[in-house]
Amino acid sequence: MNIQPAERISDFKPYFFAQLNNRLSVLQKKGVDIIRLDMGSPDLPPEEFIIDKLVESARRNDSHGYSQMGGTPEFREAVSGYYFRRFNVGLDARTQVLALIGSKEGLFNLSQVLLNPGDSVLVPDPGYPVYRSSSLIAGAVIHPMPLLEENYYLPRFEDILVETAKNAKILWLNYPNNPTGASASLNFFHEAVKFAREYEILLAHDAPYMEIGYDGVRAPSILQVPGSEEVCVEFNSLSKTYNMAGWRLGIAAGNPDVIQLLHTYKSQVDSSQFLPILEAGISALNGDQTWLEERNLIYQKRRDIVYEGLKTTGLDALLPTAGLYVWFRIPEKWDKSIEFCDALLDATGVSITPGSVYGNFGEGFGRISLVTETSRMAEAMKRIASWLKGLP
Ligand code: PLP
Repeated sequence: MNIQPAERISDFKPYFFAQLNNRLSVLQKKGVDIIRLDMGSPDLPPEEFIIDKLVESARRNDSHGYSQMGGTPEFREAVSGYYFRRFNVGLDARTQVLALIGSKEGLFNLSQVLLNPGDSVLVPDPGYPVYRSSSLIAGAVIHPMPLLEENYYLPRFEDILVETAKNAKILWLNYPNNPTGASASLNFFHEAVKFAREYEILLAHDAPYMEIGYDGVRAPSILQVPGSEEVCVEFNSLSKTYNMAGWRLGIAAGNPDVIQLLHTYKSQVDSSQFLPILEAGISALNGDQTWLEERNLIYQKRRDIVYEGLKTTGLDALLPTAGLYVWFRIPEKWDKSIEFCDALLDATGVSITPGSVYGNFGEGFGRISLVTETSRMAEAMKRIASWLKGLP
């Protein structure tokens, strides 16, 4: 039998990291000492009380069945409590909060519930690939919003054509940003909400890095903007906030109609999370948050190692005040970031992500993530520096 993919996925390539993992395991088998500075999967564990809750909950006989679709009322309440304590934002736990199986799932499904073939979507470029792939699967037309260094990697709403804005259904934002490491101010969010209201576009803010801040910086939520709940949905995640990436627990919060649509759609697609994960998530959200400060100091140290390392080799980087990534301009000698990253990997065993993975405007850049043990990060930066110095 000749299996043919459905047209909507026929042009699809595997996710970049799926391919990279295969390549790295081949190199590892050959004995290459690989240092991975590519993916954004936290290397540190969640705090012990969160794991204790998972174990305690898993030991109960009544925690193994299907849990409530969209997350238990208790989990949604915990999310609402977190938004209130952290951002002074009031969310109705019943109508404005939904649990996701990781935020990636919610980002993808948002496009499926809102977009018809031919609809327009405003997508940051460079940007997290799922905004684009989920829109394309829904048959929508992508309008890239360039994130440029000279604009602090923020989109310029005044550059969006009126015709495009009028036809757009979703505008994606993501701050603290992956891959550029840029942050947005609350003032910028005011501007974004004003634009979304004017053109009646749903503003989808993807914000999994809000709790990873440096030098005392704490990221705002777009839901702090008055009136934002009419035009915004914010995606949040326990993956990076609490070092729980493999647990798959995310959050959608904001516009109740969107939350309802996602809920209905998900009820056909999935059957919610394992209850002990939801219960441990409640502990993470309601429990002591001070451990995050120490964790952030570890990331901050790594950020400094990477930033200084790049600077000493003459590479131009943005010093991030939040998030898990350092974005830098690759040496001029290379036209394509993928070729630079391949050469780097072959010569040093250090794996980083080519900027072009995130869109055309990411070409010419590389992304280094901060989720590898600190001494290995230092070793990686040494290898990069000595390789670059030795090049003709
Ligand atoms: N959004 C952005 C910008 C990310 O960088 C990531 C993961 O790297 C995600 C969403 C997905 O996170 P989750 O683990 O919650 O699915």
